[in-house]
Amino acid sequence: MSGCGHDGVASVTLRKGRDHSVRRFHPWVFSGAIGAVEGNPPAGGLVSVRSSEGEILGLGQWSPVSQIRVRMLAFGAEPDFCCFAAVEDAIEARRPLMEGGATNAVRLVNAEADGLPGVVVDKYGDWAVCQFHTAGAVVLRNEIVTALMDLLPLKGVYERSDADVLKHEGLEGASRRLVGEEPPELIEIFENGVKFLVDVRHGHKTGFYLDQRDNRAAVKALAKGREVLNVFSYTGGFGTAALCGGAARAVNIDVSAPALALAKKNAELNGFTVDDGDFIEGNAFEVLRKFRDSRRDFDMIVLDPPKFAEGRGALQGAARGYKDINLLAMKLLRPGGLLATFSCSGAVTPEIFGKIVTDAAVDSGATFTVQRRLWQASDHAETLFFPEGLYLKGMILKKK
Ligand code: SAH
Repeated sequence: MSGCGHDGVASVTLRKGRDHSVRRFHPWVFSGAIGAVEGNPPAGGLVSVRSSEGEILGLGQWSPVSQIRVRMLAFGAEPDFCCFAAVEDAIEARRPLMEGGATNAVRLVNAEADGLPGVVVDKYGDWAVCQFHTAGAVVLRNEIVTALMDLLPLKGVYERSDADVLKHEGLEGASRRLVGEEPPELIEIFENGVKFLVDVRHGHKTGFYLDQRDNRAAVKALAKGREVLNVFSYTGGFGTAALCGGAARAVNIDVSAPALALAKKNAELNGFTVDDGDFIEGNAFEVLRKFRDSRRDFDMIVLDPPKFAEGRGALQGAARGYKDINLLAMKLLRPGGLLATFSCSGAVTPEIFGKIVTDAAVDSGATFTVQRRLWQASDHAETLFFPEGLYLKGMILKKK
């Protein structure tokens, strides 16, 4: 794809009446929408997408195994895609954040929303950590790595592509250095006055939940003097932020021992003395029930569970999980206490989430006001045409 020309690409013709979503700039073409394929495209290869009447609607990448058979790179009768330019645009959009001085850890590329389907790039200090999660993304790997090294003063680029995601594409995961220096075992980053250690080799996603950056800052700003319970703590993001904001105490719960070990290191890194009792390894549902039975209470609770709903089919079970955990947390809150509650399941819309939390509040018998609504940080870009890109929503509630 050098020179950004796209001559002689294979062609995909959509079924009659199935061109609506591409015309609305949605980047996914499902297998069921495809009528005919000409030219035998390779995995990740370029395809010209046409309506049933033969009108060219755009340029995409072919995924032979995934149900999402084509991911669009560009739209219109003369579609133009240049990988380097897409990476450059994405980086430019993050310049104010990168140069603002509040953090050195930024999402540089957010897949579909940045016109690079399946490509995620997070920058932790001097290293970029990439995920290539579609056949097309894998094809673009070298061009992306070259663009990153050209455009930013990086020490190296590391790949952390997730095996579970890639199996939908019939591809293997990867965890390896792609170019430059090996990253250290733990990369130290800073974020709104808080320091964190990130394990890019073994951590979740690329190592850290950068999407919660603004929300950790919101919790930090409200934590002063409060006893905080950080449920689903991972490496202690919200708990450490709360301590830095003057919390009297932060108790972390997570099912993962390595995550908690790093949570302790993060508290220490910021100058706090670690009490092992404040880092509880266990199932959050059970630990919260025990707290309820023993009448433990808190002034602030953060609930940041993993994705309970993988898709719309799993919505009902997910709703039950969200309601349970919110109800438990609401009961553990002292009067005047704050609940920061989140859902990162894309299938759970803000409306559905609001309803679940309201149901939990009704059952708890207490009244709550909404202090703030929260979303994914803006470097986790969203476009109007790809509503699936908005996945993280939350609220800060105050108990009467
Ligand atoms: N709030 C964190 C990110 C949380 S990710 C941050 O800002 O960095 C969700 C976490 O929930 C993961 O660390 C995972 O290990 C944990 N988890 C998943 N299921 C759990 C359960 N049933 N009980 C406790 N923790 C769980």
